Amino acid sequence: MARLILDGVEKSFHGAPVVKDLNLTIEPGEFVALLGPSGCGKSTILRMLAGFESVSEGQIIHGDECLSSMTCHVPTEERNFGMVFQSYALWPHMTVKENVAYPLKVQKTPMAERRKRVKEALEIVQLEEYADRLPAQLSGGQRQRVALARSLVTEPDVVLFDEPLANLDRHLRATMEETFRAFHKRTGATMVYVTHDQSEAMSLADKIAVLKKGQLVQWGTPQELYATPKNTWLANFIGRGS
Ligand code: ADP
Ligand code: MG
Repeated sequence: MARLILDGVEKSFHGAPVVKDLNLTIEPGEFVALLGPSGCGKSTILRMLAGFESVSEGQIIHGDECLSSMTCHVPTEERNFGMVFQSYALWPHMTVKENVAYPLKVQKTPMAERRKRVKEALEIVQLEEYADRLPAQLSGGQRQRVALARSLVTEPDVVLFDEPLANLDRHLRATMEETFRAFHKRTGATMVYVTHDQSEAMSLADKIAVLKKGQLVQWGTPQELYATPKNTWLANFIGRGS
């Protein structure tokens, strides 16, 4: 398990800055939320962590390894980060267990080990009984849990989430929040969780980075943000405005 550091990270598209001088140190096993309104750069940050985008300035460090900078770039498939994005594309023609096993197949993990890991992953998301179903035979929440199982089957150090609950209804979101908590407890993985929903961030995360127009406004525990919001905009955004 290793510390994840964003050191002066910037990202521009065609000269327009989208992420500006971002500095964050994420401790191993921490559950961190990146919170901010739509368009503030959350997904871009996650995509840089995932290795889908390069950085325009600064560096991303994991333990003693440089993942991304002007001079280094570790490709996505070599980072062993789990990912759960909003459109949790499952293979429609594969059963639940085949979907979950897929990353292990890519990694050429031996069959016996594959079976064991898939079983464990399905246990964590409580879908053991659905192993032989097809995605079309599941509810939205169950499909999202399959995506979660698939993201942890390779035993990643870090799991990245991009608004994983955005397409689910209110009731299901509450249930899924429980699943995320259990998932975090069981795996001990570092989690970086993008959301525009302040209540989701406040209830799930150990620490929250609040972003506005590509800039970090405040970085702290939910209690700190609530007790001492840095400015009126932030107080309003987290629902503390008077
Ligand atoms: P969020 O996830 O917080 O809603 P994004 O990271 O998706 O925000 O986007 C931040 C800004 O960067 C937006 O203005 C978006 O249009 C722009 N952007 C994101 N990706 C690209 C890209 N590949 N090319 C050009 N602009 C982009
Ligand atoms: Mg986004």
